Amino acid sequence: MQSKLIFPELSYVGLGAIDNLYNEVKKLKVSRIIVITEKNLVDLGICSKALKSIMSAYSIELYTDVVPEPPLHTAEKLVQHIRNGKFDLVIGVGGGSALDLAKLGAVLAKNDGDVKDYLNLTGSKQIMQKGLPKIMIPTTSGTGSEVTDIAVLSLDGTKDVVTHPYLLSDIAIVDPLLTMSVPPRITAATGIDALTHAIEAYISVNANDVTDGIAVKAIELVGKSLEIAYSNGNNEEAREQMSTASYMAGLAFYNAGVGGVHALAYPLGNRFKLPHGESNAVLLPYVMDYIRGGCQDKLAEVNLKLNQQVQQIGSVEQMSKDCVNTLFKLNQNLNLPTSLKDYGIEKQHIKMLSDDAVKQTRLLARSPVELQWEDIYQIYSSAYEGKTL
Ligand code: NAD
Repeated sequence: MQSKLIFPELSYVGLGAIDNLYNEVKKLKVSRIIVITEKNLVDLGICSKALKSIMSAYSIELYTDVVPEPPLHTAEKLVQHIRNGKFDLVIGVGGGSALDLAKLGAVLAKNDGDVKDYLNLTGSKQIMQKGLPKIMIPTTSGTGSEVTDIAVLSLDGTKDVVTHPYLLSDIAIVDPLLTMSVPPRITAATGIDALTHAIEAYISVNANDVTDGIAVKAIELVGKSLEIAYSNGNNEEAREQMSTASYMAGLAFYNAGVGGVHALAYPLGNRFKLPHGESNAVLLPYVMDYIRGGCQDKLAEVNLKLNQQVQQIGSVEQMSKDCVNTLFKLNQNLNLPTSLKDYGIEKQHIKMLSDDAVKQTRLLARSPVELQWEDIYQIYSSAYEGKTL
C-alpha cells in the first residue's frame, strides 16, 4: 500500500536548536522581519531568548496582538497588518496560538480576500500563492503546529481551520530550552495534546507504517517524561523528550490525521473556553473507551508504551481496557479535571455540543469506529458523568 508523506523541509530539534536561527535567517537574505508572538512571552523574556541572535542585525517588528485559541477577527486583523507592511519574513514564537496565526499571516499576506473565505467548513477560496517565508519556533510542547499545514481558529460555536500545504513552515526550530517556563497546568494540558495527536494518528484509518513508527515513539516519550516535566519544569531531559514527542506527534497526525477526540474537543473549546489541550485531555479516555472495539490491538500497544514497567500480560481486550484506565489516571496524576461536570458544563449542554461536533466531518472521517450523532451524545454523556462504559 502506498502512502503520501509530507514533512517540513528543514527542522532543528533539541537542546540549543535555537542557535541555528541566525544562520538560517542570513541564508534567506531578508531585511524586514515580523515576529508573531504573545505579550506574555515578551514579558517572560522567552521572545528575546529566542531572537537574541538576530535582534541587532535585522529590522524586527514584534506583533503581539495574539490571544490563546485565536478568534477569526484576530487573524483578519493580522493578515491586513502583514499585507500593509513590507515584510519579507514571518517568524512565529509561541504556543500553537501564535504559530497558527504566523503561518496564516505569512501565506494570506500574498493571497487576496478575507481569512473567512479560506475556512475549511464554510470558505470558498483556494490558496494560490505560497506567501512569505516562515520560521516557526514553538514555546510549548503540544500542538505540533510547527510541522503541520493547519491553522486553527475559534468561531461562533466551534473551531475551524485553514489548511493548505503552503502553510507548512519552511523551517521549524524546536528548542526545549524555550519551554522551561511553561507552568505546570499548561505543561499538563499541552502534553496530553501531544499524546492525543500521537494516539489518534496511530489509530487513524489513514495510519501507515511510517506514521505508526513515529506515533509510537512519541507515545513512549510522553510516558517517560510528561509527569516529570509537570512536577519539575526545570528537568531539561524531560522537557527535551516532551519537545521531541510533540514534534513527532505533529508529524504523525499531520500525515495520518486526528479523529473523534478532536472533533468533540473543538466545541468544548469554543462554547466553554477550555484550552485546546484540556478539552482533548478530558475527552481522551472516554472516546478511546467508546471506540476501543475498533482498535484494541493498538490501544494495548499504547498501554505498554505509556507504562514502561507493565509486561505484556492479559488478553488484548483487557490491555485495551487498561489503556483507558491509564489515560484516566494520567489526567488525575496531572491534576486535570476528569469530567465535563468539573468544568461546570451541564447535562442540558450535551445536545448542543453533539450538534456542533457532528459537523466536524473532516476529523470524524479518520475515526476507526464510525461516530454518528447518537455515538457522540453517548461519549459526551460518559465524559459528563466521569464514568467510562
Ligand atoms: P497557547 O499557544 O494558546 O498558549 C497557552 C498559554 O501558554 C498562553 O497563555 C501562553 O502565553 C503560554 N505560554 C506559551 N509558551 C510559554 C512559555 N514558554 N512559558 C510560559 N508560558 C507560555 O497554547 P497551545 O496549546 O500551544 O496552542 C493552542 C492553540 O493551538 C489552539 O488554538 C489550538 O486549536 C491550536 N492547535 C493547532 C494545531 C495545528 O496543527 N496547527 C494543533 C493543535 C492545536
